Amino acid sequence: MKQDKLITVKEVVLKNYCPECYSNEGMQLTFKQRFIETTFYRRITNDIKHIISCKTCDSVIYPVQWDEHIERVFEYQKKAFTPKKASRQFKKPAYIIFALVAVALIGIAAILIYNGTTTEP
Ligand SMILES: [Zn+2]
Repeated sequence: MKQDKLITVKEVVLKNYCPECYSNEGMQLTFKQRFIETTFYRRITNDIKHIISCKTCDSVIYPVQWDEHIERVFEYQKKAFTPKKASRQFKKPAYIIFALVAVALIGIAAILIYNGTTTEP
């Protein structure tokens, strides 16, 4: 099991005019961050995506369509944005495996020590 998803971490309403429908009521900047989840861990990556969209005409405004006002606001918002810290959190199945490995290592060490002490003349 592996899930790789972009999760919305911040949404900012922009007062800019939409290059598609010229309305200034629906522009929105969305910050998405990539999260990976497997059976053994949950991971937050540094991979950030920015999307500017207009809710009035329901379209995504790509960087090629941005005017200087949108660019300025975007740069400002990008600086103001603090992403979630990249991290990795282990889940229960991982701890069970770590525990089993630890027990196995202790067992191997015990056997080696035991053999070591008994084979000596
Ligand atoms: Zn629009």
